[in-house]
Formats: sequence, C-alpha cells, structure tokens
Amino acid sequence: MAMYGQPDLREVIFALEGDGMASQKLRDFLESINGKFDFTTEDMRRMVQSFHLEMGNGLSGRKSSLKMLPAFVDRATGKEKGHFVALDLGGTNFRVIQVELDGRGHARVNHTGKFVIPNAVMRGTGTQLFNFIAQSIEKFILRYEIELEKKSKLGFTFSFPIDQKNIVSGILINWTKGFTATGVIGANVVKLLEEAIRKYGLENIQVAALANDTVGALAAKSYEDPDCDVGIIFGTGTNACYREKTANILKLKNPVSGHMIVNTEWGNYSKIKSNEYDDKLDRATNNPGRQRMEKMISGMYLGEVARLVLSDMIRSKFIFAGCKARFSKGNFKTRHMALVESDKSKDLIKIEGYLEGLGILDTTHEDRALLKGVCRTISRRAARISAAAISSVVTWMDPKLRAKHTVAIDGTLYEKYPNFRRTIVAALRELHGDAAKRTKLTQVKDGSGIGVAVVAAVASRGKSRSV
Ligand code: ADP
Ligand code: MG
Repeated sequence: MAMYGQPDLREVIFALEGDGMASQKLRDFLESINGKFDFTTEDMRRMVQSFHLEMGNGLSGRKSSLKMLPAFVDRATGKEKGHFVALDLGGTNFRVIQVELDGRGHARVNHTGKFVIPNAVMRGTGTQLFNFIAQSIEKFILRYEIELEKKSKLGFTFSFPIDQKNIVSGILINWTKGFTATGVIGANVVKLLEEAIRKYGLENIQVAALANDTVGALAAKSYEDPDCDVGIIFGTGTNACYREKTANILKLKNPVSGHMIVNTEWGNYSKIKSNEYDDKLDRATNNPGRQRMEKMISGMYLGEVARLVLSDMIRSKFIFAGCKARFSKGNFKTRHMALVESDKSKDLIKIEGYLEGLGILDTTHEDRALLKGVCRTISRRAARISAAAISSVVTWMDPKLRAKHTVAIDGTLYEKYPNFRRTIVAALRELHGDAAKRTKLTQVKDGSGIGVAVVAAVASRGKSRSV
C-alpha cells in the first residue's frame, strides 16, 4: 500500500546508470523533486480535516477559501421533461446545445454548436463577451433551423463563482481560468445575457436557470441515477458541488426544509502545501494567490508545472544534455503530459516521436524516462489531491461512508489523462479501505449541456428550493 505514495521518479533513480558525480547530483535532484511533489496518506488525511473546517466556515458565512455557494436547486427526480436550449460558458469553448428530456430519465442532445472564444473576447469587455454569446446562439438557431416556441426555456451554465439568491440570477464574484472581461464582476450575468439576447432579436428565449458546470454534472447524472450526490469537473479548471441539507447552510437567510446543491468552488482551496514550482506558477498567473488547488490539479496548469521542473533540469543538464531543448512558457501542455504518459513501449518511441516533432532530436532512453517520470510525479500528486478532496466532500455528508454515493465527473482531464482515474480510486481505497467501494466515480458526458437543461426543468417544476 505504501507504494501508492511513491512517485515514479524512484524507478528512474533505480535505473540510472553509472555512479559518477554527475549521476549522484541527478539522483539528489530527483529525490528532492520526489519529496516536493509527494502527497502521502498522512497529507491526504490532514487535508480532509482542514477541508471540513473550511467547508463549515464557508457554509456559515465565515472567512474561508471555500465559497460554498448555494445553487438554489436540488438534484433531479428523473421526471423532468421538455425541450431546452443550454449554453455552456466557462472553459475552452463556448457551446450552444439543444436538449430533450423525456420524463423517464433519458436525455438526448439534439444539436451542439461549438464556438471558439477569441482571446480578445475573453479579455475584452463584458458587452463584447455577451454579444459574442448572443451572436453564437443566433448562428446556432439558423444553422439547425430551430423553431423557437414562445418562451423557449434556456439553461445557462456559467462556470465561475457566482453569488445566487435564486435560480435565475447570479452575480459574478471573480473570474477564473484566464477570463478577464471587464464590467462583469459584481453584475448579474443573467441580466447581461438577456440584454444581449434582446439586442439580437431572440425575444422568444427565456432564461430559466443559471448554474455552474459542477451543478450541471450532478443534475445530469441524478436524472438517471438517484444515488448521485456529488458533481465534479476535472477539465480546464477543477471544482465540485454536492447535495447539502438546507438547514446546514447557515448563511442562508430563509432556509427552507429539504436539500440544496452547494457549489464548493474547491479550486480555490488554499490550505495545501505548495512547493517552489507551484509558487512560481502562481505568481505568473493573472490571479496570484487564488485557485491554489486548481493550479495543482487542472488541465490549464499541470503542463506548466511540469515545464517549470523540466526547465530546471534542462538548465542543470540533467535532461536533454546532448540535444538542443527548450520549453518556453505555455508550450508544454497537459495534453502533452498525457501523451508522454500514454507511452507504454519499452523504448519510449511515442515520446521520441513527440520530441522529434518539437525538433528535440537524439534523445537518450534516460531523457525520455525522466520526462515520463516527471509527468507521472506531477499527475500523481494531482490525482491524490483530487482523491483527498473527493473524500472530504463525501465524508462531510456521510462520515462512515455507509450509503452509496455516485460521483458524477465531467472534464477531459478525467476522461483522457492516463491513470488519473485509477490513481484516485487507489487513493480512496488507501483512505477508506473497503468502504470506498460504495462511492462510485462515474463519468458524465455533456454534463454542462444536459445538466443545465435538467436544472432548468427542475426549476420550472417549481422545485427549485427543496424536495
Ligand atoms: P472545459 O473544462 O474547458 O469545459 P474540458 O473538460 O474539455 O473543457 O477540458 C479541457 C482541458 O483538458 C484542457 O485545458 C486540457 O488541458 C485538457 N486536455 C485536453 N486534452 C487532453 C488529453 N488528451 N489528456 C488530458 N488532458 C487533456
Ligand atoms: Mg466543461
């Protein structure tokens, strides 16, 4: 069991040839990297305790790195029905989706339109951003010749921290994931959306729900699985929501009985030990000091953490000494790490091919093994921190893990990163033994699309506050 805690660089260290001064220095360096990225069982346990404190503080309205935002909606019953337009804003692409719910737990995506958000729009003005959204909806409707009925219901997945008082409005608290559009923080994003929609002559559309992508994931899965009570995103960023007793949300002014989904905004969890690479990465972002856990886990950042380590190694000639190699900022992406780790060949030919594509020729086997080891060390820490965070949320609801919990997970990192899921599952077993079996991690495809349609439907049934 102890092996789970040991980053793979150790294997590389064992395999190092020769015992001259040079390789001793490399050994020492790798040992130090191992130590810096290690996240032991004990670290996980400590994190769960401190995570619970932060959750409690956030729910009570005290100072906390976890915002614990009430979503003003409960999970689905499976009976929700109808046609919906869903918008998904908050990551790499903006999407418009048409969804049909059959009232018997089956959801169907009829059409999807993907729109790349130009950098200038992400970082321009809010008006530009919302005009872009409305324009995309218009294009989508024209492209698929969608007939809008009067009061066509729209669900808006907006995956940033929002302060909600009900399901059809929300004030942006701060941007994350590289967005900086001006004039949106502090404003009601539904109002901005409605204004833009009207400008583009889409009066028939009525915004019926505003939700975060984690809430969408939970809602989508709970539509077919009544045990689902956690929703998670591992994509560009990371975040999670879960089902809370409304009475526990002490900061709510008029709590009603029943349950409500709470968006933890866990990407901002800050009581976590960081190393010099994390700190360096953080300082170079446009939100230093914020989203510290997200910066150790998610797709937008993992590659850059690895690049910072690799740059150190290149500078010290520990890696790629015989060839010209340089990775500049932002050039080594998480998907490249995934590719490196997916190479199971003895000679690491896939990695060799990837490096050759970058013009890094004549690499040695040791170079390639080191690269893979560094990636593995960083992605393993990401998975183990993720496991501790999952454990925190589930044990908050159910300390002894007596009940079944389905955890709905969306995001490309979870879907595609080699061994990410497996490492999380192993770490959960490390923490909880056999009891971990009752917590089932399931992938939910298109949570942000189907999910927000479900949320819109739940809200329209007048069940937005409690069961
Ligand atoms: P979003 O979170 O923006 O809605 P996704 O869930 O698709 O979108 O996640 C996008 C992130 O997934 C990117 O930031 C990228 O780092 C990561 N990613 C892309 N391809 C891969 C891959 N093959 N393996 C692992 N991660 C990937
Ligand atoms: Mg997404």
